[in-house]
Amino acid sequence: HRGADLQSPGRTGGAMSRILILGGTAEARRLADCLGDHAVITSLAGRTRNPAQTAGEVRVGGFGGTDALAAYLREVGIEAVVDATHPFAIQISANAVAACMQEHIPRLALVRPPWHAELGDRWIEVADAEAAAQALDGYAKAFLAVGRQGLAPFGHCRDIAFVVRVVELPETVPLAHATVVVGRGPFALAAERTLLAEHHIDVVVAKNAGGDRAKLDAAREANIPVILIARPPPPPGPAVRTVAEAVDWVRVL
Ligand code: NAP
Repeated sequence: HRGADLQSPGRTGGAMSRILILGGTAEARRLADCLGDHAVITSLAGRTRNPAQTAGEVRVGGFGGTDALAAYLREVGIEAVVDATHPFAIQISANAVAACMQEHIPRLALVRPPWHAELGDRWIEVADAEAAAQALDGYAKAFLAVGRQGLAPFGHCRDIAFVVRVVELPETVPLAHATVVVGRGPFALAAERTLLAEHHIDVVVAKNAGGDRAKLDAAREANIPVILIARPPPPPGPAVRTVAEAVDWVRVL
């Protein structure tokens, strides 16, 4: 009967289904915007003090592990979960897989496509942040675009200066020589060009997050190599790449 309720939400008096979006990405926010005719709750980890505005209900903070997430799904009456977290947020995705299985709740992963090298890109693809730190040997100034939580593996790189871009100013930066730039994407190509030039960047380090690729384009134009950290494997089970496909999945639940 769930399908019947969903096909005509509000019109037949059927209950709107309660959808949990695991968020922290631009895609999660766009999905919440698109699912306005459902009772959408977006869950954020609470890493930033001023998260971007999100439509619908928002809850903030860790659940407390898989069992606690399962209990939350049950108690709140969640009928479906869309895991729209960042492709590098593997713990919460694994917890969602286990909790949804436990509670027999349908789950979809919304995973944005990774970047692929284009003509002229000078990419050095590495498996993880530790390998990226090793690959920095011999460079003088790196633009480190790996997020505030991702800095620690670069702590022992003492012969290189970093320009670190973060969404919010961290309390401490675990790097010997670092200039911190605060900014929230998407970033314009012209601004990325200026950043690389003004700071005399000779290498860029990024996670293969996908999405807005202005920093990669700016690096290619300036013939600067990019050390690109490979994605961890995606969660098992159904997955889509676009917000529109996730909307369709919810509509036919
Ligand atoms: P993670 O390592 O996969 O998760 C660590 C723990 O944080 C989880 O076990 C969970 O705590 C909590 N958590 C993570 N995402 C949550 C969410 N959406 N709602 C409630 N609790 C959540 O995650 P992470 O890599 O630290 O990323 C944290 C958040 O930042 C994610 O929402 C992600 O989408 C976003 N983000 C991450 C990156 C990145 O590069 N990793 C980049 C941009 C945005 P409990 O076990 O207590 O439930």
